[in-house]
Amino acid sequence: MGADVIAIYPGTFDPVTCGHTDICRRALKMFDHVVVGVADNPQKNPFFNLQERIEMLEIVFKKEPRISVRPFSGLLIDFARDCDSEIILRGLRAISDFEYEVQLAGMNRSLAPSVETVFLTAAEKFAFVSSSLVREIARLRGDVSSFIHPEIHQRLTDKLNKQQE
Ligand code: ADP
Repeated sequence: MGADVIAIYPGTFDPVTCGHTDICRRALKMFDHVVVGVADNPQKNPFFNLQERIEMLEIVFKKEPRISVRPFSGLLIDFARDCDSEIILRGLRAISDFEYEVQLAGMNRSLAPSVETVFLTAAEKFAFVSSSLVREIARLRGDVSSFIHPEIHQRLTDKLNKQQE
């Protein structure tokens, strides 16, 4: 038996959506283990801080022993090496994701030729879901319950309410 095949799934996860979880579950058909890499990304000025984003991912994946959650900062290829992984997993939604994702994959390949980027698409019902849209709709009191886990929904509502106090 060979060693376990580990994929890393990097992102901001601000917050984790059903699009993200759908991608991870599909990846488990191909890889033994998925390490969700939560980017510190202070330049993106995330709505949830790093600790909150990690906690929410841990809640969503608590029953999945083959998924772990780790923060990272710095180069993605260094994080891959740290995780003993040679596979970067990314999700694709619309064509608009494509240009940036291909650029990123090309850059990572030139930095680390042995690391492959693998793209998956989520179920059609999540194809238009993004963390930023979910936050925006929730802020305007729209119903986002079919796009995020109930506990994440609660946290998002609580944080928005606190902000508007
Ligand atoms: P980033 O800031 O790196 O784009 P995100 O948390 O927004 O981080 O997304 C992480 C990854 O998940 C990206 O590859 C993104 O394209 C993918 N993704 C997010 N939402 C979806 C979705 N609904 N369907 C497919 N892929 C998705």
